[in-house]
Amino acid sequence: MSVPLFKKIYKTISAYDNIVIARHIGPDPDAIASQIALRDSIKLTFPNKKVYAVGFGVSKFKYLGTLDRINESTLTKPLLIAVDIPNADRLDGVDISNYHDVIKIDHHPFEDKMGSIEIVNENASSACEIILDLINKTRMKMDYSIAAALFIGITADSDRFLLPTTSPKTFELVSQLILKYKLDIKTLYNNLYERPLSEMRFQSFIGLNMSVTENGFGYIRLEENIIKEYGVDASSASNMVNNFNFVKEIIAWAFVSYDEKQEQYKVNIRSRGPIINEIASHYNGGGHKYASGARIKKQEDVDSLFKELDEECKKYHKANKD
Ligand code: AMP
Repeated sequence: MSVPLFKKIYKTISAYDNIVIARHIGPDPDAIASQIALRDSIKLTFPNKKVYAVGFGVSKFKYLGTLDRINESTLTKPLLIAVDIPNADRLDGVDISNYHDVIKIDHHPFEDKMGSIEIVNENASSACEIILDLINKTRMKMDYSIAAALFIGITADSDRFLLPTTSPKTFELVSQLILKYKLDIKTLYNNLYERPLSEMRFQSFIGLNMSVTENGFGYIRLEENIIKEYGVDASSASNMVNNFNFVKEIIAWAFVSYDEKQEQYKVNIRSRGPIINEIASHYNGGGHKYASGARIKKQEDVDSLFKELDEECKKYHKANKD
């Protein structure tokens, strides 16, 4: 990413006393780690600024640090920094119209223009990778806990350096981080990957019961009674969807569960070939080329999403003649 753009961000941050950092609803470790790391780095660099990382807290990510509550109407001339989010309507906990200026830092495909400075790098493994680059290339400061949060965000969103957005630069940045801050990787991995046996058993259930089409599309509906039987919660599906990567017979796969509170189906979609985010965008969804999600009201629409994904797998096989 260009150094002048990072310098412009640094200059803009320097100019504001009240700064709010927000990310997408339904956050993953990269979303929360990027906002917490950026908040803490700004605070460390500019101790007199008021900086808040906002949005709904997720208890399983508490180890990354705590989030802040704000009353937007009491903030004077605030700056909003939106991280890990391409679209304004999925911002969690803020109303973009309340801000004097907006900076966006993201690694999803571009969707909405939000502010005067936008860094959108689809080739970055994670929002944390961009924040780390920003800190390294400006006078922003870092300490152990900021470095640890950035390591977690990069590791989680690159799926342990397995996804195609993992580049030599990702390895270089992470390697420098580990060396400089002597990161205790064992503890960090424990925080990120330890899970109850019930989840492991639930994952086995998915492996045993997933349907796989002749085109290599795998899918499963995770019914409420099964989720209860295994003693897990519906969000567990999001934790384990990446674990179905590199299964020989499957090139794209999706899990669907029903969210009673929101009265909608939540779909997690992954791929290791066909492009899925465009299809997801037809179903109130979106995301990355190979990792997307959707929120759907009607069962028929879930069926037709699956049909489109299966078709895409068929096209992919044909195009790649395998
Ligand atoms: P998930 O399967 O929930 O881990 O989401 C994978 C990716 O898709 C993340 O980058 C999410 O931000 C994105 N995503 C999930 N659901 C939606 C949605 N309804 N609309 C747009 N993007 C989504």
